Amino acid sequence: MPKLNEHYQDLKESYLFTEIAHRVAAYTAANPDKKVIRLGIGDVTLPLGRLALEGLHEGVDAMGSAATFKGYGPEQGYDFLREAISAYYARNGVTVDASDIFISDGAKSDTGNISELFDTDNVILIPDPVYPVYVDSNVMGGKKITYLAGNAENGFLPLPDPAFHADIIYLCSPNNPTGAVYNKEQLKVWVDYALANEAVILFDSAYEAFITDPELPRSIYAIEGAKKCAIEFCSLSKTAGFTGTRCGYTIVPKELVFTASNGEQMSLHQMWNRRQCTKFNGTSYIIQRGAAAVFSEEGMRQCHENIRYYQENARIIADTLTKKGIRFYGGVNSPYIWFECPQQMESWEFFDYLLNHAQVVGTPGAGFGENGKHFFRLTSFGNHENTAEAMKRFDELF
Ligand SMILES: *Cc1c(COP(=O)(O)O)cnc(C)c1O
Repeated sequence: MPKLNEHYQDLKESYLFTEIAHRVAAYTAANPDKKVIRLGIGDVTLPLGRLALEGLHEGVDAMGSAATFKGYGPEQGYDFLREAISAYYARNGVTVDASDIFISDGAKSDTGNISELFDTDNVILIPDPVYPVYVDSNVMGGKKITYLAGNAENGFLPLPDPAFHADIIYLCSPNNPTGAVYNKEQLKVWVDYALANEAVILFDSAYEAFITDPELPRSIYAIEGAKKCAIEFCSLSKTAGFTGTRCGYTIVPKELVFTASNGEQMSLHQMWNRRQCTKFNGTSYIIQRGAAAVFSEEGMRQCHENIRYYQENARIIADTLTKKGIRFYGGVNSPYIWFECPQQMESWEFFDYLLNHAQVVGTPGAGFGENGKHFFRLTSFGNHENTAEAMKRFDELF
């Protein structure tokens, strides 16, 4: 009999989206005449930009003739895409070496797989509330997690306790689910803390393209010293509507070198390269051609047309909450709006209340961690008409 990885028993049942679907289905069955509006989705809805689509088509066509056919590509991704990403960072004022960029099929895989590079014996800091992948991938590896509380007092932007030592730190900014964004001073506090502790920051910037405030950092490498302490994960999922197309990338600077217990120097860049070469055979050439088109100036302009559409939805939601005097986080520089449930309701209670009285579906904060228990997430990924209608109902409800 195989001995199983029993750490899987330690995983909390991920019932969030199934439970939501279940409750919505029960409601619609009992109230077939009511129109339910979903503002809970964490997935994009608008189609790909024209240039991205053309890039994908060119990739497909290349496969059809012997002269341009592509078999296995480099595990790290094609240079044309790595260079396009490096040029995109440069346009945003950040220098990233193309050879430090690893192309993947998305940030979920990479943020989940990265934990393989670290021993079980580390102090791992993970914010709460947070994107569940960081927690579950560490639980699967039998690793102990220390939670870092995000709450109203710190504006859901926790900072390190200088008296506490950590080895690995997960940060997500702009944050899912809270929409909160670290400013440069706050990120510098984290970078300085990581350098002082010889810790590594695992920085998820999946929502960087939603940042409109030019003062806010869109990459951890906008902070001095970050290349000595941080890995950055990003994705085309929310930026370019690639949730179904699949492409992401991870930046592992060559400066990330640490001393092993036998005194040898170990490079995280080399380790990640080895890991990818062993377990990953590269992202599809076709997808990488589409992705390269996204990172051109015109391709990015087209992405921003879609992002602006979502931002208009976020504004509609934020305006209603402001009018109602409900304090919220996000809504600008993020597709998410996070607020405290009215009348001291708990998040599941509020979920039912909103569904039953306004036929609006959101996401209970409890699904993202202990500190989300009294909070609620709405997203801007719906269409204008439904978002406006949902917020009109919300307005009439309180
Ligand atoms: C959506 C999202 C991602 C992107 O994941 P992909 O696998 O690239 O689709 C990464 N991190 C966070 C926090 C997200 O919300």
